[in-house]
Amino acid sequence: MNNRSQARAATEGAFAPAVFCDFDGTITELDVTDQILTQLAHPSWRDIEREWALGMIGSRECLERQIALVDAPVEELHAVIDSITLDPHFGDFCRFVRRQRIPLYILSDGFDYVIRRLLKRAGLAAHFRNGSHLFASALRVEGRRLLPSFPHAAESCEHGCATCKAAIIRRLSRGRQPVVFVGDGMSDRFAVEVAGVIFAKRQLLAHCRENGIACHPFETFQDVQTGLEKLLAPAPARRYRQPVPALS
Ligand SMILES: [Mg+2]
Ligand SMILES: [Zn+2]
Repeated sequence: MNNRSQARAATEGAFAPAVFCDFDGTITELDVTDQILTQLAHPSWRDIEREWALGMIGSRECLERQIALVDAPVEELHAVIDSITLDPHFGDFCRFVRRQRIPLYILSDGFDYVIRRLLKRAGLAAHFRNGSHLFASALRVEGRRLLPSFPHAAESCEHGCATCKAAIIRRLSRGRQPVVFVGDGMSDRFAVEVAGVIFAKRQLLAHCRENGIACHPFETFQDVQTGLEKLLAPAPARRYRQPVPALS
């Protein structure tokens, strides 16, 4: 914590934000799992996607059945992963939160194998190991097949999440506020229920607007960083207040 946030923590009680981020479509521009399925799986993966979109199955069952439809050599898997671009501001954002001593966690239904390969390319993988700052589904490559497992599905989860983002946020955010969540999709809709400050784009933004959930629209991590800088700024009008601060 820097001097300014220490001073504020002393006068306002605990001001110690934690940031939780979705990966696919939030840190990446495209959904990597969708790309893998589109290019390497039997097209019936879309029928399973429809069952998930209709709420008939949770994301865990959805991914388990979809990833079983992939039949391709590992070189093709790597080629799909390597075609994905990251938000160009995400690296700077990681350095910004580190300077501010704000913990940053990536929470994803997607696969650690894929996420770590992409973060490694950006020079960011060292900090994010599955189970520590990265909470994702796990993947083992065996010949032409992909074998998933779900180390962060929660017993208590009623939605059948592959990675129960809400349960992880509840566990890791104890004693921290505000709880900041950054996301883009419908798999983030349970996570925003346990967050105090929400940055949203695409379907998550639409979901928040439809349900009267206060959120800050964003396009890139530069916007998220600017928003957090305003939260951290000392100007009285921009102080963090419960339940959701105004950023402008
Ligand atoms: Mg997403
Ligand atoms: Zn859940």
